[in-house]
Amino acid sequence: MHFFKYKKGELYAEEVPVREIAAKYGTPVYIYSASTLVRHFKAYDEAFDGKHHIICFALKANSNSAVIRLFAKHGAGADVVSGGELFRALKAGIPAKKIVYAGVGKTADEIRFALKSKILMFNVESENELREIDRIAADMKVKASIALRINPDIDPQTHPYISTGLKKHKFGIPIDDALEHYKFAKSLKNIAVVGIHKHIGSQLTKISPFVDALKRILILIDELAKSGIRIDFLDIGGGLGITYLDEHPPQPRDLAGHILPLLEGRDVTVVMEPGRSLVGNAGILVTKTLYLKEGEEKNFVIVDAGMNDLMRPSLYNAYHHIQPVVKTRRDTIIADVVGPICESGDFLAKDREIPKVNQGEYLAVMSAGAYGFSMSSTYNSRPRVAEVMVNGTKFALVRKRETYADLLRGESIPEFIR
Ligand SMILES: *Cc1c(COP(=O)(O)O)cnc(C)c1O
Repeated sequence: MHFFKYKKGELYAEEVPVREIAAKYGTPVYIYSASTLVRHFKAYDEAFDGKHHIICFALKANSNSAVIRLFAKHGAGADVVSGGELFRALKAGIPAKKIVYAGVGKTADEIRFALKSKILMFNVESENELREIDRIAADMKVKASIALRINPDIDPQTHPYISTGLKKHKFGIPIDDALEHYKFAKSLKNIAVVGIHKHIGSQLTKISPFVDALKRILILIDELAKSGIRIDFLDIGGGLGITYLDEHPPQPRDLAGHILPLLEGRDVTVVMEPGRSLVGNAGILVTKTLYLKEGEEKNFVIVDAGMNDLMRPSLYNAYHHIQPVVKTRRDTIIADVVGPICESGDFLAKDREIPKVNQGEYLAVMSAGAYGFSMSSTYNSRPRVAEVMVNGTKFALVRKRETYADLLRGESIPEFIR
């Protein structure tokens, strides 16, 4: 559910015509709906009511400060995967004690930063990382709280690029080796074992992989208990899917309905790390049609947003619905919707049936709030686009469009070629 709706043929972001925002800030522009963001957060929070829980927003899905702050205000924690994300989370007001830190390649500087910030826990992905965290913690004379990221070897049945929980993946510790790794962790002087973590993939549209993975983890928790290792935080990861085309992903309450009964009688705090399902349908990308081009074999709608602005179609062949901002009765065409980038992989849609659009017309690329701006780049020296947040009848710029000068920031020409 989201708050991008047509009223009398005109697309609105909550109570504001999208056309008005596009005209004011130019295109391409990302627009986020605050009410949608809050609604999605509450859906998680309320679903896990009755059990101690922390909903840690996975920042990589959308790391705009205003988005993070909005979640922080409603009690969210953060799942970070870099020092930069930790910095963003803290700056936006997420309490350190609600921050978990995953990722296979944490550097010494990042580990030090996280220890200094006193985060809830590191989700550790290998034995050597454990050694490194212990060494740095000893150096700083502190204890590092950790969970081990366990790879439960469950197929999440999603796109291979966004599936993470199989033996062949670089993530986590194989479940068969988990006990041994936990014992090793416990033996380290500056490590405090507090949790267990899993995250099997993204855009999951079925509950069963979630439940199967959790069951394996629960068996492991019981084994750990026998070895005197107590788990206080059960981090079940993120990954719930959203509707891009015709998917029917489970809602947080469906997920909770399957998960909570399994946890009855267990004294653990549940940590969840949703990203996409919090922000995906809460954002759109508005772009302007620059040219129409009728090729010999294909029609092209050339728009001012490219793969550098929204990478998902090029990267995963992902589907995003594209619709005119102002709807009128008209014929449809089959076309590729493409950007201005000098790459054949630069498309937002392929062989798509869409209304016959006009040059200069605004189009809305739907469900673009997750892995949209956060994955964007300045490839082809295209300044990154503006981001706007809407709340009811109010709206505000939450990131201004970059300038040409921004493109050169930090660059310098060395003496020896002057
Ligand atoms: C990416 C990621 C998430 C969020 O995944 P979504 O599919 O966006 O919900 C959560 N946890 C970890 C460790 C991740 O890498």
